[in-house]
Amino acid sequence: MNTQYVSAQSAIDEQKKSTDGHVIGLTSKFTCPFNDCRTYAVHRWGASNSPSARDGAGLLSHRNFGSMPPVNFSLCEACGREAIYIGGQIVLPAETDAPPPAVDLPTDCIPDYEEARAVLPRSPRGSAALLRLVIQKLLPHLGATKKTIDASIGELVAAGKIKTQIQQALDTVRVVGNESVHPGEMDLRDDRETALAIFRIVNLIVETEITEPKRLEALYASLPQSKLDGIAKRDAQPEA
Ligand SMILES: [Zn+2]
Repeated sequence: MNTQYVSAQSAIDEQKKSTDGHVIGLTSKFTCPFNDCRTYAVHRWGASNSPSARDGAGLLSHRNFGSMPPVNFSLCEACGREAIYIGGQIVLPAETDAPPPAVDLPTDCIPDYEEARAVLPRSPRGSAALLRLVIQKLLPHLGATKKTIDASIGELVAAGKIKTQIQQALDTVRVVGNESVHPGEMDLRDDRETALAIFRIVNLIVETEITEPKRLEALYASLPQSKLDGIAKRDAQPEA
């Protein structure tokens, strides 16, 4: 299996283009942007340079076409689908490089998470802001009662409810998200990688703090009743 990863957006960014923004070159190798493909495959470039527009009123009449940004395509050799780029930005598929949500992400967090994925190509900052909202909604599921991310982390650490690794991950997000960063410090303005790291952190938190305990609980519950009775009996015994 080829694990190499090159995003479609970075592929078109680096591809040579004509002065009007149409891609020059036959093929590039990158990771298919369609979530159910994701194959590191050859993509065939294409450009649309003479679009026509049908008049909205009739099937056969055409109206003059207004000015529009360059439209490019990449055809994935693995799945046979076209990704579409307008003005140099990938617009289809709407799914981005961002990973899908962890299976146990609470349902009240999913809409913001999905929106964060959708806006990533156009606005890493907007994406990161939405992810902080996701984390704010996620923390009560871990037992936090405070309003801010900062206070909630402190609360969860004090109560021994989260692992050190998760506390550090949360603090990373909190610091990165601080709007008052000084010039020269980390700035999310055009940093896709940082936004992508926050996606991974959200999923890590869900997997470590929700999925894993659930799995262990299920494993424990699957023990034979005689063993469970034995454990209950042991725990009920007064200490010697
Ligand atoms: Zn594909």
